[in-house]
Amino acid sequence: MSIGNCPNCMLDNSIRRIFWGLPLEQPDLEIYTLGGCVVGPKMPEMKCIECGWQGSKIEVNKATRMRRFTWTDQDAPGITILKKFKITHEALEALENSKTWGNAQSFHSKYSPQSIYGPEGELNWLWDLSWDSLEDMRGDFYANMGGGVPHKIIDELIQIISSKTTKKLTSEFIKILEFRDE
Ligand SMILES: [Zn+2]
Repeated sequence: MSIGNCPNCMLDNSIRRIFWGLPLEQPDLEIYTLGGCVVGPKMPEMKCIECGWQGSKIEVNKATRMRRFTWTDQDAPGITILKKFKITHEALEALENSKTWGNAQSFHSKYSPQSIYGPEGELNWLWDLSWDSLEDMRGDFYANMGGGVPHKIIDELIQIISSKTTKKLTSEFIKILEFRDE
């Protein structure tokens, strides 16, 4: 069982709660480390038994979220989906308002981004997909000659989805860093 990651050395099995005072019986050393019997105000709550870091539970929680967010999807399953690239109504709207779309006159007189890539669009199989990497997404957008969509428009949409995904990830990341549960 991991209590969290050490904010200093980032190990996930070395953080212990500091047991201050005299224990009546031996505490579980997987969870606790003995702090000593002198108890004063503002004693650190947590300690790393590997590097000696001491500090608060809030700092451990923050380090744990950063570590897990940065390194593994499995540790933060709720976040995985945000990493994926996906066509959204917002992205299609941005495409429609883009210069690239405006310049493709013969094309935009016949179609709208929704009528191509939307849930009822001609290429709506793309709407149901999501991708882990831009390369994978690009590969599907360009399948079958891009469904006849001009390359400039495909590239514009990929660019829009990419930048929106990055922004969303960044704001989500900041929310996690600001989160305090105790
Ligand atoms: Zn440490």
